[in-house]
Amino acid sequence: MDDSCTPPDQAASGTGSDAAGVSPQASQPSTASAGNSNTDPNLNGPLTLRPGHELPFVAPSSYLRPKPSSRTMPDKTSNPLDKDQMQGLRGIREFLKVRTSYDVLPLSFRLVILDNDLLIRKSLNILIQNGIVSAPLWDSRNGTFAGLLTSTDYINVIQYYCQFPHEIDQVDQFRLSSLRDIERAIGVLPLETVSVHPMRPLYEACRRMLKTRARRIPLIDTDDETGRETVVSVITQYRILKFIAVNNEQHTMLLKKPVREIGLGTYTDLATANMNSSVLDVIHLMVKYNISAVPIVDKDNRVMNLFEAVDVIPCIKGGAYDELTATVGDALSQRAEDFGGIYTCSEEDRLDSIFETIRKSRVHRLIVVDDDSRLKGIISLSDILKYVLLYGEEEDDLQEY
Ligand code: AMP
Repeated sequence: MDDSCTPPDQAASGTGSDAAGVSPQASQPSTASAGNSNTDPNLNGPLTLRPGHELPFVAPSSYLRPKPSSRTMPDKTSNPLDKDQMQGLRGIREFLKVRTSYDVLPLSFRLVILDNDLLIRKSLNILIQNGIVSAPLWDSRNGTFAGLLTSTDYINVIQYYCQFPHEIDQVDQFRLSSLRDIERAIGVLPLETVSVHPMRPLYEACRRMLKTRARRIPLIDTDDETGRETVVSVITQYRILKFIAVNNEQHTMLLKKPVREIGLGTYTDLATANMNSSVLDVIHLMVKYNISAVPIVDKDNRVMNLFEAVDVIPCIKGGAYDELTATVGDALSQRAEDFGGIYTCSEEDRLDSIFETIRKSRVHRLIVVDDDSRLKGIISLSDILKYVLLYGEEEDDLQEY
């Protein structure tokens, strides 16, 4: 068995770069005119064609005309803030439709692909050594893409260990190819293995992410001649929002409505834990709520920290599943020294400043707090992506993707 993590023809090497430096080229809605003169513009009478305008000519097709305003769009256009907000959202959507997933990739990046035959315990070390939290899987027997390994898979292994503690020796021998069996054994609905072609519009990848709740999506290309698949890269919600923030300032700066007013994020039934909760308890919360982070609060509901799904990975390094009874406080104290911290905002903050923060920093979610640092809500990247893509969209348009 080959435990190597990068099939030779799959690996791209180089140094990572965060911001995708592409200049904005968002298209504006077309307002094409007919290009011929009619004797009476209000009637379908005979056409008087000027020299050079003889038939056949290409009449403007309906798709070039601006769409009528959405039926479901709230009718608040009298307020300049609402107008700007909608204009900003439309601008970002147009941008996502004319860009491809390929455009999001940095000029140079590193891609680690794991062989499906690799032991799960070894995959953990590889992720830690490479400072990454997910990797595409490769089925080398069939030469095909085999899914995406994420922290959710390790959480599933932990759940398996909890349900079948006497099988600890077996857990140690599981290979990545067993992950689907583990899902079945613990009764988790297998995630649809979604992927997109890198040259398809970025808008499509975003819609696919929202539909499947995937926080990252692999870009898979297929060779026309051999039919062989190639994993090009993986794009994440973070990278897409960063791409918007870096390249679309003229539109993000229009998003000036407070997050409270636009209902961005979750404010009720928040899953929280405290520093003395066990790591295992927090993992159970993440599974129960299907969330990727749990705010850690004190007895007065003041935010102390945040436990993220990726924090699970170092906790089970070396197959130490019994260490999951350690407290959240202990686990978080072992975070890398370069940990970027957690990001907070208030309910009065606006998306323009959130995009500004995303432009400058590695933000994965924002904790909404009041003036006393008490927890009010949580805004995940999926909340932002959903709002940016779907707010005020017509049902019919949503069916297209
Ligand atoms: P995420 O897993 O971060 O993509 O979040 C998925 C959804 O769950 C989003 O709508 C979040 O606002 C919401 N959410 C995230 N974290 C929590 C939490 N700790 N408690 C309740 N809801 C949350």
